[in-house]
Amino acid sequence: MNRDESRPMNADIWVFSEKPTLLGELLAGARVLSDHSNGAVVAVVSGPVERTEEAFERGAEKVFWLGELKPGFLVEDYVPTLAHLAAKEKPYGILIGSTRRGRAVAGRLAARLNLSVITDVTEFIVENGTLQAGHMIFGGGAVRVERPVSEMMLATVGPGIFNPPPPIPGLKGDLQIPDFIEPECRLTLCERKIKPAPAVNLPAAKKVVCVGRGVAKQEDMALMEVLARILGAEIGCTRPLAEGLGWLPRERYIGISGANIKPDLYLGIGVSGQVQHTIGMNEARVVVAINKDGQAPIFEQADYGIVGDLYTIIPALIKALKARK
Ligand SMILES: Cc1cc2nc3c(=O)[nH]c(=O)nc-3n(C[C@H](O)[C@H](O)[C@H](O)COP(=O)(O)OP(=O)(O)OC[C@H]3O[C@@H](n4cnc5c(N)ncnc54)[C@H](O)[C@@H]3O)c2cc1C
Repeated sequence: MNRDESRPMNADIWVFSEKPTLLGELLAGARVLSDHSNGAVVAVVSGPVERTEEAFERGAEKVFWLGELKPGFLVEDYVPTLAHLAAKEKPYGILIGSTRRGRAVAGRLAARLNLSVITDVTEFIVENGTLQAGHMIFGGGAVRVERPVSEMMLATVGPGIFNPPPPIPGLKGDLQIPDFIEPECRLTLCERKIKPAPAVNLPAAKKVVCVGRGVAKQEDMALMEVLARILGAEIGCTRPLAEGLGWLPRERYIGISGANIKPDLYLGIGVSGQVQHTIGMNEARVVVAINKDGQAPIFEQADYGIVGDLYTIIPALIKALKARK
């Protein structure tokens, strides 16, 4: 592949994530880019020193080890150090793990380096020797392909986009330990609270009964639960039921901003099938939809569809399923 003449002399691709699993995935993404740029894959690693070894074993040729955070410091507090390093070394690209903290780091880094961030990249594309990145926009309704206008590409990449390379034990590289630069002003961590463990693992469910806004009242959820019990299914929902109405916890909604599921059976009841929802269920093996509107977009995804009132169909379905048992 031809080198782009406008490219900076340092064609290295850097990765940073405070999450070790995501760092491994980013290293795979960086390898795709470095094959194009002819640069090295460089990991910027925080936390215990053992993580630097893992980064080498997963393909980093060079590691900047930022060390462990001092008590009360946050991941964002690495930004001045990262910005200083990047301004000095001028890598071709920096990929940051799209976690809550990672996104905060990317935004602050962009501001300091006068760059823009390409967020939540789903693929890197090289066209006519130029690097571009595809990422989702409009809540997942479309993919936009962009190319960085600056010399350095700053991008965030979420989990599951690249497969982490298998570790090669004993692989070593160049380890550097930059000085930590104290931030001029910092957020103060006031309290940490344990997040309650989720009551459901929707992505692992084999069958999901997904309830949408077609269900008129919260009391009617009892009927959906009876159906789910008979089918041995988990209850899922569309976003309005979890975020607007609060009928079900957030961990039960499916879609671009909720859970991604791959069940053998998805049964959508009163779900219209907007793209932000279907992105989270379009890998279901069999899709059944019940909706009174024959034009509802969910029917385009459905293997089996019933056009009708759910208040007639669900009791009849429960009766028929009970009779079979
Ligand atoms: C940035 C962004 C992110 C979003 N992320 C998500 C996401 O992750 N997940 C998600 O689900 N949504 C998401 N949304 C919202 C999404 O766009 C839709 O608004 C939502 O999915 C619609 O939910 P629904 O199908 O339950 O409701 P509606 O669109 O209101 O559909 C209700 C359906 O029920 C049918 N119906 C009504 N009464 C009956 C009856 N008696 N019997 C049978 N059928 C009946 C109607 O015909 C209709 O098709 C997002 C939106 C934005 C802007």
